[in-house]
Amino acid sequence: MKNLTKNAKKFASAFRVTDGDRFKLKDFDPADTLGIKSSEKPEAAQALQAGVAEIARLQDMLYAQDQWGVLLIFQAMDAAGKDGTIKHVLSGVNPQGCEVHAFKAPSSDELDHDFLWRCMRSLPERGRLGIFNRSYYEETLVVRVHPELLAKQKVPPRLITKDIWKERFQDIRHFERYLSRNGIVVRKFFLNLSKQEQKRRFLQRLENPSKYWKFSAADASERERWGEYMQAYEDTIRHTATDEAPWYVVPADNKWFARMIVSSVVVETLSSLGLKYPEVGKDRLAELAAARRVLK
Ligand code: ATP
Ligand code: MG
Repeated sequence: MKNLTKNAKKFASAFRVTDGDRFKLKDFDPADTLGIKSSEKPEAAQALQAGVAEIARLQDMLYAQDQWGVLLIFQAMDAAGKDGTIKHVLSGVNPQGCEVHAFKAPSSDELDHDFLWRCMRSLPERGRLGIFNRSYYEETLVVRVHPELLAKQKVPPRLITKDIWKERFQDIRHFERYLSRNGIVVRKFFLNLSKQEQKRRFLQRLENPSKYWKFSAADASERERWGEYMQAYEDTIRHTATDEAPWYVVPADNKWFARMIVSSVVVETLSSLGLKYPEVGKDRLAELAAARRVLK
């Protein structure tokens, strides 16, 4: 177990970004595996299994202690593996202690509110793990690449100035600082897929009837704006990577590696919280002893 926690720390820190100023996306290789060869995949799968078990153990204490909440945010281009990663990494967790929210194009009800509103309503309670499959970060990604979406948002035109993105970054940073000061821990994952690997996965979807449903024509047209998306990701990470709410730029060309890294980050995050089962005082012990007597 000690080894697991040590490795988790090492793997997590390799891809952590806390200081946006120096961040450049090109310094992160989507195919990186930290030198682990694909022949070592079985060992990586074992490490993932151990990580999943450790997450389940820690999550039980998180729930019992009922003080911290943990918010994991996943952002990525299509086919980067968000769904599969969420499924694998959380496969051991008690469903009662965790909630997944997916954010799609906003509804008219959602557009009637400020941009953080729908995400705020879905924040995890204390004691819970909350997962955002996409999030308010779409506001500086897809909305930035498609200015027509911003026009549909009903924000009073005089508030949309050249500073709009700078202001959104600032609002997001402040929001995440507010959460962290309240004991809601925020960790953000960018599953960093290469354009070639996306093409391979799209083709795979188009050749496999059981994967047809995963493909939409919009996915292909967004791919044509790859460069603009990468710029938007880089700028977003630069402006929102902080000590309290770091980004993890996870190499995603190899699913087995991405999953191992994400599980390491979750293990590392939960282990850093000093989680404990609540202590039982004298009065409570007496109460438990009385209950035992009655039952017997
Ligand atoms: P995913 O693409 O995440 O696997 P999906 O295919 O089931 O999920 P979609 O219907 O494609 O779901 O919904 C996701 C789409 O919603 C993405 O294209 C995303 O950019 C868009 N979206 C999410 N949030 C916003 C937002 N705030 N403004 C505009 N579009 C958004
Ligand atoms: Mg989609």
